[in-house]
Amino acid sequence: MRRCVLLKHGEVVLKGRNRDRFEAQLRRNLRASLRGVGTPVRIETAGSVTVVSSPRAPEAPVTELVRRARDVMGFDVVQPAVAVAPSPEVVARAAVDLLRERTPVAGGFAVRARRRDKSFPLRSDELATLVGARVHDELGLPVDLTTPAVEVAVEVDRGAVHLSLDRLRGQGGLPVGCSGRAVVLLSGGYDSPVAAHRAMRRGLHCDFVHFTGAPYTGPASAYKAYALVRELGRYQPGPRLLIVPLGAAQRSLATAGAGRWQIVAQRRLMVRAAGELARGWGAAALVTGDSLGQVASQTLSNLAAVDEAAPLPVLRPLLGWDKKEIMAEAARIGTEVISQLPDEDCCRLFMPPRVATRSDAARLALLERRCDPDRTVRELLARGRMVYPGRDDTGRAAA
Ligand code: ATP
Ligand code: MG
Repeated sequence: MRRCVLLKHGEVVLKGRNRDRFEAQLRRNLRASLRGVGTPVRIETAGSVTVVSSPRAPEAPVTELVRRARDVMGFDVVQPAVAVAPSPEVVARAAVDLLRERTPVAGGFAVRARRRDKSFPLRSDELATLVGARVHDELGLPVDLTTPAVEVAVEVDRGAVHLSLDRLRGQGGLPVGCSGRAVVLLSGGYDSPVAAHRAMRRGLHCDFVHFTGAPYTGPASAYKAYALVRELGRYQPGPRLLIVPLGAAQRSLATAGAGRWQIVAQRRLMVRAAGELARGWGAAALVTGDSLGQVASQTLSNLAAVDEAAPLPVLRPLLGWDKKEIMAEAARIGTEVISQLPDEDCCRLFMPPRVATRSDAARLALLERRCDPDRTVRELLARGRMVYPGRDDTGRAAA
């Protein structure tokens, strides 16, 4: 009985001619995420299932393998499992042993068998019946096919049969890197990290830019951005983060008379700078955490005014999400606890008492003529500080 982890491919199985390319990326990402796990790992793919095992250690560090595999975009289901020889007798024995580790079981059990290798001597239902009878006889557990307390999944593959008791949810989506690259505008709030996770989940490799209010604000928001990117590094290797002090440019906009349009003018400057950065990083889109109508700066009119200044498409994965949904997702992906820390958000600097909900194009044009956005963007990027908060080469999130 060899410990291993079964990974069920998600949407890549729907790919036609490109499927090989997607699966190669999936495999590369999985390998990267398992780097430094402490034992050599073997990764085998057959059809829509990948099996991770450790050739040297029959007792592979399954908990750690599972933890990491669950963060790899592109796998729908992750199952800690055991692999045994493809013989009905051996399979029945292994099922009994596995369930014995689980006892006492609070209820009945069910066996669900599936045959991916049709050369196995028994049909799926025959195998399930055999295994079920053996478990019942040896452990005295009642069979319950409708609401079992525990389900034994028996999956017959070529060369091995896999048994598992747990079906854990993976991240789903597409492998990071399949859809190209993007630059995420990351604030310290709840929304933009969730937006980044969604972008990664659709196959975009993300790098990050965070604007601080320096010199008018302290370093807290930059620390938060760093911590957020490090957390998001669980889902994608090697994210970069540029931290850009925006305070002086914000002040110029205010002095030039931005008034109620201060926030939209700042956003336009942010996307211009991010667009320039994207060019250098080979990215083809920007990502923000905007959700339509959530706050005054996120009305359709204001979002359109931001788009107008953006040199690249602005993707807004959370456009249709409610705040509650965003918060729940932030908790699930691990960014909520960081986003809730206090900081000084640069957007609140020079915040007008009333934020315009409709952009005034003429006003914005006039303002920008006074402030020379091209030069400002060059200066902003020159003052930016690059950091690499992602995983270190052991594959773990860096300390
Ligand atoms: P978040 O929770 O992401 O801060 P929010 O609901 O607070 O979003 P806004 O503050 O209006 O909304 O920001 C909208 C989007 O603009 C953010 O999701 C983010 O993509 C971008 N953004 C805002 N502030 C910054 C910043 N300081 N640095 C980089 N991007 C920012
Ligand atoms: Mg915010």
